[in-house]
Amino acid sequence: MDDSVRKPVAVVTGASSGIGEATARRLAAEGFSVVAAARRRDRLDALVAEIGGTAVTLDVREPESVAALAAAVPVCAVLVNNAGGARGLAPIAEADAEHWRWMYEVNVLGTMLVTKALLPALLASGNGHIVSINSVAGHEAYDGGGGYTAAKHAQNALLLTLRLELLGQPIRVTEVCPGLVETEFSLVRFDGDEERASSVYEGLQPLVAADVADCIAWAVTRPEHVNIDRIDVKPRAQATATRVARDA
Ligand code: NAP
Repeated sequence: MDDSVRKPVAVVTGASSGIGEATARRLAAEGFSVVAAARRRDRLDALVAEIGGTAVTLDVREPESVAALAAAVPVCAVLVNNAGGARGLAPIAEADAEHWRWMYEVNVLGTMLVTKALLPALLASGNGHIVSINSVAGHEAYDGGGGYTAAKHAQNALLLTLRLELLGQPIRVTEVCPGLVETEFSLVRFDGDEERASSVYEGLQPLVAADVADCIAWAVTRPEHVNIDRIDVKPRAQATATRVARDA
């Protein structure tokens, strides 16, 4: 029998890297048939060759691409809206409108488009679960973070609205808000500047992507009447978005 017939299906967006990739691995280990979606297809193919499931090329900014994902997934137990990220760290006085547009499109509109497209499949599962990978930036402001914090606050508002609108339906809604996680996030934020990216994690032990995947796996494996609303997870050396303890 085909994997997807026997196992509940979990769609993970942004599965080509970081938290999404670790989540795809972990959910496969938990018994899900994983649909791994992102733009970098070569990485997805390598991933599903290891963990099983299906690779789907997806750009969350493109409605046709999202529609193709939904067409490939008639029944979905878990949707992890993880695709996202930050561009730049400029103060608002020097804001780059293209960076802001990218952050809003990927984190906010992308989450809306994918969620909207997969809602029928989540309902069809009889026990759906939407997990949104937000951030400490969804609940705090910090210098230079305006474009990212605005997008992540909006992503939070989207999820709170969704929880109200889905009340009474068999779909759970969970927000996961990590602090510093060492992934390709800072490399993307700083446009490939490896030195600047690695300085973000210097002198402290950040989370690794598998730590966040562990939280997601825990939330989606609770009994179906239990809704984990929100998980805030940071390294021990981090108190707020910017307040960290670094080694001397
Ligand atoms: P990452 O390693 O850069 O991964 C980002 C993922 O998003 C990649 O798989 C990328 O895949 C995908 N993505 C980007 N644009 C996309 C698009 N238009 N369509 C489809 N997929 C797209 O960073 P990460 O840390 O794992 O980030 C995952 C999520 O965690 C993001 O929402 C981020 O905001 C959040 N987060 C990260 C941290 C952190 O410190 N790392 C902290 C809090 C929250 P492709 O490029 O192949 O499309």
